Amino acid sequence: MPAPLYEIERETLIAAVRELDSRGLVSGSSGNVSLRLPFEGGDERYLITPAGVTYDLLDAAGLVVVDGELEPVGAELVPSTESLLHLGIYRNRPDVNAIVHTHSLFASVAAVTSTHIPPIVDEMVVYIGGPIEVADYGFPGTPELAAAGVEALGDRRAVLLRNHGMCAVAPTLAEAMRVAVLVERVAQIYVHAETIGGATELPEFAVDAERQVYLMRSGLAGTD
Ligand SMILES: [Zn+2]
Repeated sequence: MPAPLYEIERETLIAAVRELDSRGLVSGSSGNVSLRLPFEGGDERYLITPAGVTYDLLDAAGLVVVDGELEPVGAELVPSTESLLHLGIYRNRPDVNAIVHTHSLFASVAAVTSTHIPPIVDEMVVYIGGPIEVADYGFPGTPELAAAGVEALGDRRAVLLRNHGMCAVAPTLAEAMRVAVLVERVAQIYVHAETIGGATELPEFAVDAERQVYLMRSGLAGTD
C-alpha cells in the first residue's frame, strides 16, 4: 500500500491532536484541527481531522485531504463538519496556515455566556492581537457559523463561537497550539477574576504597544 500523501504534515497534525487530547482541551470527537497544505497545481489543499472519529481511534492515515470545494482527495473518510469554518478563515487570512478548534471548558464557559474577553494579560495582546471576541451564533457546520467566526476573528488569532467553543489560528500549527492553550488559560483567569471583584483591563498604552508587536510579528503591520 503506498504511503499516504503529505506524510510529514499528517504526523505533525496527529501529534497536535494527541497533545490537545492529553491536555484535556478536546474530548471524544469534539473540536477539529487543520493545516493549509502547499498548493498543488494551483489548487487549494487542506488537511483536516475527519468527522465523528474519536481521538483515541484517529491515526495519521485517517486525516482527510480536501480541495477548495471541501471534497476529499483520495480519502474515504468525511472531513470535519466544521470544514466550512476552516475554509472561510483560510480564504480571509492569508497569514493563517493552521487552525485549532476546541470546546475546551473555560473557553466554552465564556462562549455560552457570550462573554468577550478584554485584554487582561500582556501575552494576550502580543500573541492573540487583542481581545477575544464572541462570534454571533451559527448552527454547527453552516456558512452562517463560518461567516460569523471570520468576522469576529478579524485580524487576531483567537475567537469564541457563541454557545459552542473557540478557534485558534496561526501561521504554524505549533503557534496555533500555543494560542489554543493560551485562550483556555486566559478564559480561566477571566472567569475566576470575575467572581472575585472583576478583572482589571490592561492600560491602553500597553495594549497599543503590544498590539504593534503583534502586527509586526504577524507581518500585518500597516494594516491596522
Ligand atoms: Zn465545534
